[in-house]
Amino acid sequence: MVAIAVTPEEAGETRVALSPETARKLAALGCTVRVASGAGARSRFSDAAYTAAGATIAAQPAEALAGADILLKVGRPSPEEVSALKPGGIVAAMLNPFDDRAGLDALARSGATLFSMEFMPRISRAQSMDVLSSQANLAGYKAVIDAAAMFEQAMPMMMTAAGTVPAARVFVMGVGVAGLQAIATARRLGAIVSATDVRPATKEQVASLGAKFIAVEDEEFKQAQTAAGYAKPMSEAYLKQQAELIASHIKGQDIVITTALIPGRPAPRLLSRTMVESMKPGAVIMDLAAERGGNCELTAPDQIIEHNGVRISGKLNLAGEVPVNASSLYAKNLLTFLELMIDKKEQTLKVNWDDEIIKGTLVAKDGKIVHPSLQPKGA
Ligand code: NAD
Repeated sequence: MVAIAVTPEEAGETRVALSPETARKLAALGCTVRVASGAGARSRFSDAAYTAAGATIAAQPAEALAGADILLKVGRPSPEEVSALKPGGIVAAMLNPFDDRAGLDALARSGATLFSMEFMPRISRAQSMDVLSSQANLAGYKAVIDAAAMFEQAMPMMMTAAGTVPAARVFVMGVGVAGLQAIATARRLGAIVSATDVRPATKEQVASLGAKFIAVEDEEFKQAQTAAGYAKPMSEAYLKQQAELIASHIKGQDIVITTALIPGRPAPRLLSRTMVESMKPGAVIMDLAAERGGNCELTAPDQIIEHNGVRISGKLNLAGEVPVNASSLYAKNLLTFLELMIDKKEQTLKVNWDDEIIKGTLVAKDGKIVHPSLQPKGA
């Protein structure tokens, strides 16, 4: 029998790595699921709901962890949690692998088998395990809802006897998973939406959502997508032209949602102080790239600041503000990932180390960091 442990996250993290639904499915696979009491409380999953789904509630995290085969987490577990597992025990979590390398090395040294869900390959077989997508989608939605609440004007156009209320103008920068949901949400609220990206594939996606596409469409733009579907870092010359285009567009915008990222690198700087200063007082910027340094020069991580009447939100965990949905989807991502490594007939762990998904997400094994993108440069 495979023993699975779930423990509470750090303060400030509202999500949890198991839902009653996934607990039931893991129990049906023959796993023993041990949940530390209260682990799901901030996502409104009660101990009783987990028990009804076939899980066991442990009074203390240590009890859930003792000798477990697998630990499921949202964020990085502590070295103490990991060392309580069976030797070589599996951890599946969002390990935030590019930050705090010393902390990651310490976890690896415990000998645990660490999987970082952020490294999930973007292949169709792995779509149901893709945590970046499931969480970014909710973050894109919540960014628009937050912005609409912060913006002291209406979103849709309203024609009333007392006069016409103009529609808000929303500009989305970076049209990946979060950006697409931001466009769709802003459109549903009745805003006039425009969007920009460096990947040509986004042009049609933006148009299909009823928004206007704005970008520097030169030769470099045509080559900007990597085989993995991500954006390449753009040249200085491109970024300069892009900045000129944005500078003229930004002045008329009420809400700007920035989501531009390049894997393993600082977020590209797309909004300068001067651009912010050209915006109307009352405008709102939601910088979803705050964790990687921000797309806006003025963003302060996890804070809302005001500059010349423009408010800039650098909130770090927007998905965590819709925790019920975020946890349900994340838990489902983890369940489909675990299904890959559990032998249903024998009810034992059977990891195929050659599987593209296993290889792609494996960060550390037998005391060593093994992921190619975490090796020293030139190694
Ligand atoms: P991301 O979070 O890495 O980046 C967000 C967006 O920022 C991207 O669209 C990127 O092109 C854009 N960007 C980067 N630099 C920019 C710049 N200088 N200016 C403007 N925009 C810039 O992206 P993501 O949301 O993870 O999605 C990346 C791709 O992966 C997309 O093509 C998406 O459709 C694809 N995807 C595939 C799967 C799958 O097949 N399993 C799952 C999810 C996403």
